[in-house]
Amino acid sequence: MVRYVYDFTEGGRDMAGLLGSKGANLAEMTRLGLPVPPGFTLTTEACRAFLAAGNEPAGLWEEVSAHLSALEASAGRSLGQPDDPLLLSVRSGAKFSMPGMMETILDIGLNDESVLGLAEVSGSRRFAWDSYRRLVQMFGSTVMGVDAAHFERALAHLKDLRGVKDDVHLNASDLAELVGTYQNLIHRETGEHFPQSPAEQLRRAVLAVFASWNGERARLYRRREHIADDLGTAVNVQRMVFGNLGADSGSGVAFTRDPATGRPGLYGDYLPDAQGEDVVAGIRNTVPLAELKHLDRAAYDRLLAHLSTLERHYRDLCDIEFTIERGTLWMLQTRVGKRTAEAAFVLAAELADEGLITPDEALARVSGEGLARLMFPRFDTSTTGTALAHGVPASPGAAVGTVVFDSAQAVRRAAAGEKVVLVRQETTPDDLPGMIAAQAVLTSRGGKTSHAAVVARGMGKVCVCGAEELTVDTGTRRFTAADGTVVEEGTVVSVDGSAGAVYAGSVPLVDSAVIRYLEDGRGGEGDRGVVGAVGRALARADAVRRLEVRANADTPEDAVRARRFGAQGIGLCRTEHMFLGERRKLVEEMILAGTDAEREGALAALLPLQRQDFTDILQAMNGLPVTIRLLDPPLHEFLPDRTELAVRIAAAEARGEEPDAHDVELLAAVNRMHEENPMLGLRGVRLGLVVPGLVAMQVRAIGEAVARRLRAGGDPRAEIMVPLVGDVRELRLVRAEVRRVLARVSEATGAPVDCPVGTMIELPRAALTAGRIAEEAEFFSFGTNDLTQTAWGFSRDDVEAEFFSAYLDKGVFPTSPFETLDREGVGRLVGIAVTEGRAARPDLKIGVCGEHGGDPGSVHFFHATGLDYVSCSPFRVPVARLEAGRAAL
Ligand code: PEP
Ligand code: MG
Repeated sequence: MVRYVYDFTEGGRDMAGLLGSKGANLAEMTRLGLPVPPGFTLTTEACRAFLAAGNEPAGLWEEVSAHLSALEASAGRSLGQPDDPLLLSVRSGAKFSMPGMMETILDIGLNDESVLGLAEVSGSRRFAWDSYRRLVQMFGSTVMGVDAAHFERALAHLKDLRGVKDDVHLNASDLAELVGTYQNLIHRETGEHFPQSPAEQLRRAVLAVFASWNGERARLYRRREHIADDLGTAVNVQRMVFGNLGADSGSGVAFTRDPATGRPGLYGDYLPDAQGEDVVAGIRNTVPLAELKHLDRAAYDRLLAHLSTLERHYRDLCDIEFTIERGTLWMLQTRVGKRTAEAAFVLAAELADEGLITPDEALARVSGEGLARLMFPRFDTSTTGTALAHGVPASPGAAVGTVVFDSAQAVRRAAAGEKVVLVRQETTPDDLPGMIAAQAVLTSRGGKTSHAAVVARGMGKVCVCGAEELTVDTGTRRFTAADGTVVEEGTVVSVDGSAGAVYAGSVPLVDSAVIRYLEDGRGGEGDRGVVGAVGRALARADAVRRLEVRANADTPEDAVRARRFGAQGIGLCRTEHMFLGERRKLVEEMILAGTDAEREGALAALLPLQRQDFTDILQAMNGLPVTIRLLDPPLHEFLPDRTELAVRIAAAEARGEEPDAHDVELLAAVNRMHEENPMLGLRGVRLGLVVPGLVAMQVRAIGEAVARRLRAGGDPRAEIMVPLVGDVRELRLVRAEVRRVLARVSEATGAPVDCPVGTMIELPRAALTAGRIAEEAEFFSFGTNDLTQTAWGFSRDDVEAEFFSAYLDKGVFPTSPFETLDREGVGRLVGIAVTEGRAARPDLKIGVCGEHGGDPGSVHFFHATGLDYVSCSPFRVPVARLEAGRAAL
């Protein structure tokens, strides 16, 4: 037989699924012998049965009655007993906390008769009538469905009549009159009377709490917090205790440690002569908990002892709610307390030091997301005013600078020592120099995987993108906010990449000690604060993790930084990033070459530049693997904009002039190369196979860089990676060429130049034929950006701003699949490729270098799927190290 009701003496903290977290923790405290007002919990199963059938399950009420009788027997009085009523609270409590989302009804058991009894035994008429009026109001709105505004209006009207401002200035007779008004109101609105039967009050209150699980507020909250809709809520029925019985009573909240810093100490608030609800509602000003010591020393000492019992028992920071009723302390709630990222790290380290938890438990209690938050400077949020605009929080951190509207201006001003914020509608590879020069990037279009977002994250640069309320006019060099504020070039703004907000003026910054420590090891060992705690968590993660962590880096500076952050190599060096700026001209010449000689000339000019790039990176990563990817993006990205050219030519013609011959030639080439879907066009390995000399030039540059480093006594470990392979034959052709070129370099230099050749797996076909591809590949690296794009058929450059938010709202996916790997689909492709790749080549090294390599949830998946490494932007390296460690626990 299903059992629907558990007494607090019967449950425990491991029963949160059935009893809700509040009920499970009340039971735990009861078992620990702490003073919890007695009560019982109706299970989430009862709620689910009620919601499914539309009425209470058979037998529920008999069980409730039996538990109620036991409660009455122990209290020595019965529910609503006229001369001395036992009163009950009825509170919701789901498995996952949903603060304020569901209903609570207090003072069940009061009616026109028992209110007089309560006045008598409590010695306070005012208290009794105030409790009754709270019940009628809560019951009327929550259970009987009367619009809460009616009650508010009646209360306001009475206060007006009496000429008082606060509820507390209404006397007992006023409140008695108000109860009458409320009861009439309920009758008028519903045609029903407020129920005088305590048993009926209880039953209807319980069912109303069950029903509130499906209230609109609760449903919205669950969607936002990714809480399943079918869990249901438990209901806790508990004897009321009163903190509003005079000066020797009160209510408060307490934390066993400081939830902001994690440091030991007593933290909390106390409100004398008040109910718990009054503390939470913030109607009156609370006093610091330490004041209680002077108000009621005995209760204070008992509270401290209970807090210590709870913390030792839960082995974690707890927060509690308590009430003192005429000198008697009651514990009303406890739970493992929410905390800031900083507190999480400090607390984990301290509890491990105190021997309460093991080092592995300490590691489990911190998170990569928390670490990421600690790495960025923050705005002092006490000083931020109203935001000019909100957008997508694309790359976290806080930055202040003067607004500029193009890359050149950003570079110029930054070179003069100015801090700048680059504002664009959206960015393109052309904006890269400006992005590097800027403190932050702000765009009015694009989502989390737009160019601005991906590049900024890669550089650890603050970025807010898709701030659609902004009208950006690069022509007049100003942007306009939704409220009409016009911001001209040169004006100072503050960009909060963690919150996705932009503020006018300069908001003060708080520096990150953690980033200083990670970057150059200052602080750390022996540090009792957050820096030391982060250091210890990372050390533990490094000791237990199986996954290696590499970085995506294209410059020696990034490589050096990545290494300091603990990267064990470079998992992706995107060579296209080396073709920007001045060098773009050379690429343009290569593409436009009319003859072999011209093309060879352009390639020959690029060769020494590339060779130097690779030499520097191999030097920075001496002794560690450096995976260099051959050129990937569509070539037209290196050519000028088609429309711009056409306009320039048309304008010249309109003026009756001869258009510039170079422009005409360029336009013809751009037209020739135009593709409707460049992301699915001539890019990746396809480029290498159709543009003569390109692979040979890049591989020669790599080979000669390796030879140089060898001659210099270095330990270069270059790996050559081929992008966008869909079939083994593509790889076979390229690999043969790579081998030929490397052999020639060896011969010419006399150095034994040999590099493993591998491929990216970023097309579904590659994943599905991974067994064949592994015949030619010495390693795989999953390009999960493209693999997500091609598996879902979502263009990674276009989708996020518009329909992704609709998809998120409708719950098609809980987070963007470009952010957290879609395990079910893309993850399945990864799994197939790992299994089949390793079956064909057991020593196949496998990693991932898409954005997911630095995403905590995805790192756990890659660990479980048996990858050898994850590669992510330098700033995510510590995050990935931490999560790789946590995944291995
Ligand atoms: C990928 O597709 O995941 C990848 C790493 O390559 P890119 O982002 O450069 O296309
Ligand atoms: Mg790719």
